Formats: sequence, structure tokens, C-alpha cells
Amino acid sequence: MAEPNTIYQYSLLSALMAGVCEEGITASKLSSKGNQGIGTFARMNGELILLDGKVYQLTPNGPPREASANDQIPFAMAVNFVPTHTKTNFTISNKNSLNEVLEEILPQTNNVFISYRIEARFSSITVRMVRGQEYKGQPLSELGENQSVQTYTDIDGIIVGFRSPQPWQGFSVAGKHLHFISLDRGRGGHVLEMVASDAKLSAAVASNVHVELPTSAEFNTTNLVVDDAGIRKVEG
Ligand SMILES: [Zn+2]
Repeated sequence: MAEPNTIYQYSLLSALMAGVCEEGITASKLSSKGNQGIGTFARMNGELILLDGKVYQLTPNGPPREASANDQIPFAMAVNFVPTHTKTNFTISNKNSLNEVLEEILPQTNNVFISYRIEARFSSITVRMVRGQEYKGQPLSELGENQSVQTYTDIDGIIVGFRSPQPWQGFSVAGKHLHFISLDRGRGGHVLEMVASDAKLSAAVASNVHVELPTSAEFNTTNLVVDDAGIRKVEG
């Protein structure tokens, strides 16, 4: 297992935005890099959440599925999460209110990464699941137009989150990036909005980041750009 609170990232969000997602690392390799994480699957077929060593695939076609060891992961972040700070029994009025909570428990951390986990009863949580590419190279910005959006109410669950510093837009999602799975492992997705009570948030600064870049022709022949507006739209 990786060093505590060291982020391992495979590929770049900008590559995913450009539709680079034919292949990647295996799910078993990803789970060796940390105890929690987020990402997607080959052809952007659904969202990925890594929780306590298990990799789940979240698609609109059924309940979360535990990934097979050889499933291909074209983009992911994982961390061996060892929380250093915790806040309990608080209310989350919306997704953006997390900014203040993180600032409160980990002040002066704007330019480092934070990994965190939220356990709560969600009176409402809205998630999306990408449906997968319709053709090779289809960019994520276009897939966002046809994503499945679901709202669940009164559901217990867990969120795995990362906060990336603003200048790292395109490396990952600058700001918050959260994936959810219900306590019974029956629902999940990329979090768009939420309201929760009796929340517990545990967090740690991650100042070490290890990035592994694809060596594929697909990755290396694609013109990568930082599409700030596109990322905000599809990953906000
Ligand atoms: Zn996501």
C-alpha cells in the first residue's frame, strides 16, 4: 500500500476531456494504490468509486457492480487515506457549503490537495453517471450532454472526495470532485448536489502526488488542452 495520504493519479483529466479512454491500468492495480478513490472506466462507461479497497462501477444500467480485477481504468485518483481531521454532526446545506467546512478544519491549505470522506444521511443527493462513449474518442464534454442524472432522497451513504488546487485544473478537477455510494452499495454516482444532516467529514492534506501518464499512442497523439469552461460544465 502507498504511503499515507499520498495521491496516486493515472492519466490527466484533460486527456479524458479529449476522449482518451480506450485503456488504462487495471482495477486491481488501482486498488493497490489506496483505500479510496474516484475515476472512470474504459470508454467512460460509468463512474468509479474505490472504497475500502473495493472498486465499484456506477452506471445507469443497474446497481453498482464490483469491478473485475482486469477492468481497464483510463483515469483515476486514489489515496491511502489516513484522516487527520474530523468534523461530526453537522448539516450540509449544499455542495458548496463543503468549502467552508474544509476551510474550518484544514485552514490555509489552498495550494495543496485534500482528500476526504463524508458519511451522512442524505435527505437529497443528485448524482450523474456517464453513459459511455458512442464512438471512439468521443470527448467527455459531449458525453455530458447525455449523462444520466438521478436524485435519491433519505439515503445513507458515503462520499469519497478530493479537493485539488485551482492551478491544477486539467490535471484533475480544480476544487471539489466527489463520488457517492450508498451504504447498502445499491446506488451511486458523481455528486452534483446534496443536502445532508448528521454528517461526518474526515479529511487529510495530501502534499505528495504521484502521477502515472499513459504511454499509449492514443494518449500521445492527442492534442491536450486545458478546457476550463468545459471542465466546469461537465464536472461541476
Ligand atoms: Zn466524477
